[in-house]
Amino acid sequence: MVRVVAAVLKKPGTAVEIREVGLRDPGPGEVRVRVKAAGLCHSDLSVIDGSIPYPMPVILGHEGAGIVEAVGVGVRSVREGDPVIISTLAHCGRCAACESGKPTQCCNAPSPRECRPFVVDGEEAYQFAHASVFAEATVVREEGAIPIDPAVPLERACLIGCGIVTGYGAVVNRAKVETGATMAVFGAGGIGLNCIQAGVLTGASVIAAVDVVPQKLHWAKVFGATHVVDASREDPVQAIRQICGGVDYAFEAVGAIPVIQQALESLAPGGVLTVVGVPPVGSQFSFVVHQLYQNKGVLGCRYGAARPRVDFPLLGRLYLNGRLKIDELVTKEYRLDEFAEALADLKAGALARGVFRFD
Ligand SMILES: [Zn+2]
Ligand SMILES: [Zn+2]
Repeated sequence: MVRVVAAVLKKPGTAVEIREVGLRDPGPGEVRVRVKAAGLCHSDLSVIDGSIPYPMPVILGHEGAGIVEAVGVGVRSVREGDPVIISTLAHCGRCAACESGKPTQCCNAPSPRECRPFVVDGEEAYQFAHASVFAEATVVREEGAIPIDPAVPLERACLIGCGIVTGYGAVVNRAKVETGATMAVFGAGGIGLNCIQAGVLTGASVIAAVDVVPQKLHWAKVFGATHVVDASREDPVQAIRQICGGVDYAFEAVGAIPVIQQALESLAPGGVLTVVGVPPVGSQFSFVVHQLYQNKGVLGCRYGAARPRVDFPLLGRLYLNGRLKIDELVTKEYRLDEFAEALADLKAGALARGVFRFD
């Protein structure tokens, strides 16, 4: 057992406590990672405000990178001193889905609620998304510690584990956007910006970004949007029709039902909508079935349909070779004890990504 400072949430809607907690040693198949950097993602906010129900107390944070500090019995893929990005998947690696390169469809993955390596006031605390990286160290399953090229700075690498892989993977792995295709991205936050830059990598001919925050539309241009639409000033569906008559691919990266509706309506015949955003649990979406008749489709997408051991090192290489923007994603860096400030900045829409640094 070691003592670490961590971000603890005891009840939705209450303040996040930054305090010392206990962290047990890694068991068989587990790895203890000294966290060096962690991004603040909208899903953390959703747990804090209760729109994603989660058992409490919980140690927050799921987008992190660090250095392997100790490994449990049987761990083979990493050793002490290795830099790793935390993957939130914790897939089994042994089922048909895993063996066919679809770990996001794993049917044996443990519930994130099963792993409780932290102790708060004598009580086992829950781990968030197999990660809990708003802590000086965490214990994760071997499947969740993905080795990365040491040349990628960890305060950049951390963003690969959620925001980048989710946005990039939606475009490249799930929708499989072709060179020359037209696309629209609804929501130009941490996920949407990565949909946009993945569109650039695939060679999309039109990348229309839709948001209501001028700053985010500015970032969208920096990340490669060919057109920006301020949905607070004009109807985005009409605007997209004017740009290219409707898009081949739409990506919804907000998680709001009215926006999913607009994204569906923005499709050209044969177009495909990929829903990347996460609306509150239990949300319902209805649409006129006739809308799909011209060979349109709607896709779900979990975690960028990623294969972490393929995609994380690839995204690291793209960054090192100047093909993927990560520096530009980081709006501001914080210490963990500035958590309240970071959360306020996130709520205000002031962050592409805020990153906590532990050094
Ligand atoms: Zn996230
Ligand atoms: Zn599996």
